[in-house]
Amino acid sequence: MNISHLSEEALQKTILEPHRLSEEQLSHLAGCEACRARLTNYRTLFNSLGQAPAAGIDFDLEAVVMRQIAAGRARSRRQHLSIGLVLGSAVGVIALMIWLNLQLLRLTLSELSVPVLSLILSAIVPITVFSGLVVRNTYRRKMRLLD
Ligand SMILES: [Zn+2]
Repeated sequence: MNISHLSEEALQKTILEPHRLSEEQLSHLAGCEACRARLTNYRTLFNSLGQAPAAGIDFDLEAVVMRQIAAGRARSRRQHLSIGLVLGSAVGVIALMIWLNLQLLRLTLSELSVPVLSLILSAIVPITVFSGLVVRNTYRRKMRLLD
């Protein structure tokens, strides 16, 4: 039995283009439990992605995932809404954490006056709104690319 294990590329090829494997690679796979376990991992991954991406360096996980997102979006508009809900609750949690931090800041730096606090707040709010807009625009651009 050949001692050198199959490369990641060879393992992907085993699933995608099994006819291109050499006799040596096939016989190694038959006798090597470690390589078969790695092969099982690839099978699980490819099955969960629901398609067969190109082998080797060309393997573009992001493109596959984005295709999956597009397919899911076509299946159901409700998923779109649930992404919005997740984003919305994320913004809510972030706002709550900022508020809690401000309360903590107020307790620890009790000499900090209300005008200073409102100054800090007036700096944080535009930054938060701006980052929210950036996230929203990025999300919209990606969704437009999927159409
Ligand atoms: Zn092996």
